[in-house]
Amino acid sequence: MKYFAGLDIGSTAIKVALVDEEGKIVGVHVSSSGSLFHKNAREALHTLLAQQGVAKDDVRYLIATGYGRKLFKEADDSISEITANAIGAHETGKAFGGVRTIINIGGQDSKAIQIDDTGNVSNFAMNDKCAAGTGRFLDVAARNLDIDLEELGDYHFNGKGAPLTINSTCTVFAESEIIGLLANGHGKEEIIAGIHYSIAKRTVRLAKRVGIEDRVYFDGGPALNKGLVAAIQDELGRELVVPEYPQTTTAFGAAILARNEFFAETS
Ligand code: ADP
Repeated sequence: MKYFAGLDIGSTAIKVALVDEEGKIVGVHVSSSGSLFHKNAREALHTLLAQQGVAKDDVRYLIATGYGRKLFKEADDSISEITANAIGAHETGKAFGGVRTIINIGGQDSKAIQIDDTGNVSNFAMNDKCAAGTGRFLDVAARNLDIDLEELGDYHFNGKGAPLTINSTCTVFAESEIIGLLANGHGKEEIIAGIHYSIAKRTVRLAKRVGIEDRVYFDGGPALNKGLVAAIQDELGRELVVPEYPQTTTAFGAAILARNEFFAETS
């Protein structure tokens, strides 16, 4: 049996996806990027292969993508995360009737991508200058509020009052603003809802720059946060398509391309 791998070396997390000859997903793995990108990427790949009982030699083609992709010299090829995300979202989005706009929020950047009906990128916009509006912003907020990332959604929906307005657009200032709000007796729920709406507003502004068309797909690690999903839906005024494993769409796209490139080269 032949397998194909996509390795997405992100700023915050390493994602690996394995597909079979038909391009069907066999397994995915997510681990922290840490400071040793190359070593951790190799470990992530080996962990997934061991979990799936797949020998390294049966992985016939591997494509690296993401922030740290150039560090992974063993890859057969590398592609930008925008292309890989487009391929992954196009493929995954078929089950939802097709998607044309992608919103991706990662650990340190956020992107809006428009794709055509074959999955090719027709337009994109990126915010990588400022951590506000990214996973990093939520990581810092969760730490200040002493809660786990997995709890952000529950806090969001448990908020009784209106979400607070978070004015700071920089993570460092937002940190002191959050501490100030806590000191003034505000509840974690209303602060978290406020943070989600502040990220949602930025995200929707970014998406409007590329143009919002048809069904909108939301991926990246922060798409695991149901509170953020709800806030973006409110600001966008429409439902989002959120896949079951939103953090691994880009790795999946790279694995699909690995499969396609292998068969194109050997046919
Ligand atoms: P990158 O590709 O830049 O490394 P990811 O798409 O992997 O980024 O997203 C990383 C971010 O995902 C983290 O900064 C964190 O905020 C968020 N995240 C990861 N797991 C969860 C979770 N279970 N719930 C909410 N947010 C999460």
